[in-house]
Amino acid sequence: MKPYIGVLALQGGVSEHVNMLQSIACSTVEVRLPEDLSGIHGLIMPGGESTALIRLLNRWNLVSPIKKLAEAGIPVWGTCAGAILLSSEITEKSHRVDQPSLELVPVRAERNSFGRQSASFQENLVIKGLEEPFPGVFIRAPLLFPLSDKAEVLCSVKEGAVFIKSGNIWLSSFHPELTDDSRIHTMFVEGAVVGSQP
Ligand code: GLN
Repeated sequence: MKPYIGVLALQGGVSEHVNMLQSIACSTVEVRLPEDLSGIHGLIMPGGESTALIRLLNRWNLVSPIKKLAEAGIPVWGTCAGAILLSSEITEKSHRVDQPSLELVPVRAERNSFGRQSASFQENLVIKGLEEPFPGVFIRAPLLFPLSDKAEVLCSVKEGAVFIKSGNIWLSSFHPELTDDSRIHTMFVEGAVVGSQP
């Protein structure tokens, strides 16, 4: 079965995820409306600006359909701003911020933990499930603090966790779609297709 993966396309790094998915033989759909979610095996929520994204998700009535999809077990992966939106709590340097989220994963996401855009960096990451290090690209990235044992840390840097899996939901602070390394996309898609078998 050819994997059919949705990429939330309201704002941010959409085309990079779409290109990466197509390079590993997936069909893709850019998700702008609730009906675009129909029949997908998995959903990626890209990076961008989480404050803008939550407004757009509400504007296009996507919050509840995405929550239902995730709660039905369809794999959902948020990168950077996408990861922030899936977390149960959002802070900035430990201050709770008044920013709603989808609250799907018991994780506190601390926005902009590594500083401003100019403090973007790349670091080789050791990730559970991958044999060789992965080139992690961090752009105004959050740190992820698990709030329960259900949130499994797949990768940390010295400051804290940057890749978490909680059931069918994945959160990464970094941007695999901005590299030419498709291993994490492949892992996600394989899980999505297996997860969708009866
Ligand atoms: N700092 C952004 C936010 O809080 C995320 C940045 C990104 O997605 N690269 O939404």
